[in-house]
Amino acid sequence: MPPLSADTLIALDRAHVWHPYGPMPGTVTPYVVESASGVRLRLAEPVAGGQRELVDGMSSWWAAIHGYRHPVLNEAVREQLGRMSHVMFGGLTHEPAVRLAARLVEITPEPLRHVFLADSGSVAVEVAMKMCLQYWQSIGRPQKRRLLTWRGGYHGDTFHPMSVCDPDGGMHHLWGGVLPGQLFAPEPPAGFDAPLDPEYASQFEELMERHADELAAVIVEPVVQGAGGMRFHSPAYLRMLRELCDRHGVLLVFDEIATGFGRSGALFAADHAGVSPDVMCLGKALTGGYLTLAAALCTSEIADGISRGEMPVLAHGPTFMGNPLACAVANASLDLLLGQDWAVEVKRISSGLSAGLSAASEMPGVRDVRVQGAIGVVQLDHPVDVPAATEAAAREGVWLRPFRDLIYTMPPYVTGDEDVARIAAAVTAAAVAG
Ligand SMILES: *Cc1c(COP(=O)(O)O)cnc(C)c1O
Repeated sequence: MPPLSADTLIALDRAHVWHPYGPMPGTVTPYVVESASGVRLRLAEPVAGGQRELVDGMSSWWAAIHGYRHPVLNEAVREQLGRMSHVMFGGLTHEPAVRLAARLVEITPEPLRHVFLADSGSVAVEVAMKMCLQYWQSIGRPQKRRLLTWRGGYHGDTFHPMSVCDPDGGMHHLWGGVLPGQLFAPEPPAGFDAPLDPEYASQFEELMERHADELAAVIVEPVVQGAGGMRFHSPAYLRMLRELCDRHGVLLVFDEIATGFGRSGALFAADHAGVSPDVMCLGKALTGGYLTLAAALCTSEIADGISRGEMPVLAHGPTFMGNPLACAVANASLDLLLGQDWAVEVKRISSGLSAGLSAASEMPGVRDVRVQGAIGVVQLDHPVDVPAATEAAAREGVWLRPFRDLIYTMPPYVTGDEDVARIAAAVTAAAVAG
């Protein structure tokens, strides 16, 4: 088959293909990516300013931490392809999955011992919720089935995860009668270094106390709230949650799908606080951005509880559970990450972003500039003109994908200093244009 011309490809795309959060037919023309290597996306045709290669400021939504077409990751996939791409996981097992699960248990906080491999982040969150609800059901407390979270969160796009996304950002008003009604505390006070606000803590506890009998779990994104608004909060609030959950007999779920594997400056955001959740969700960077794979890890207490129930099994089993290709590349990605001083790289990018974005805080239209780990955010005082901001970044030779009032970046950890500076300049240019 001859390759499609760029025009044909775009026409077919606009006519037939849904994109994330997109209208149908599509209204804005996406860039066509021909290939990608290192931290650069190669486009089929030049875009704004004649650029045909863009430095990736997004890591393909937190995932491609080692960049693209990495020789070690490519080799891991090729090697696994030579054995098998997939076999069902019911009644069968294989080394890539077992190795990965054992590794995840080893590197995550202590009492997490059991791993459910899911095929996307949203499904991992579904499974985490199912673990919690089924635990209470199994130990004779079936009325404990609601979830509590704080506002400003994002946990995925399937219905139960949607129910704990921010009610406004997640457009809950569209889904009356469909979404389960969960409980919401106010957003955690902003600032990684901010001291714990005792007023907030007592409000949170009051809410929890009032509903403890019906609460299965608290679920939050630790330290960094990602797609819900790119807000950072103090690890002190995670310690607060751990204490309150213990005191009131409620499970604690950390959704580390975005924060996991070093992004926030600690290997897991929970490590900033020195606390462990009862369930942890991982995804996104798990395979270094190669294939879709996620995981929900839980403690033995939860697994044992479920085993004592009337239905003593975790009732979930995706067709592509434990996909060997995805597990093999996840193992290689973990080798790469843990085989280097990743914290130094994250800190280097953090400093580069802080330096490069500092001038933006003085600009008109900018409400806030913040950096945490290898994440840089410029928040405007108005909604971003996404096409204009995207084009301004592309003129600087950088790929960015702003949303709402946010222009933000989380570069691959292998991004060199010059490219980090370039990304920061593009974020600034996008803030001016958008
Ligand atoms: C992206 C994300 C999800 C959903 O993951 P998908 O793989 O897109 O389904 C859930 N929680 C958080 C915190 C995320 O960032």
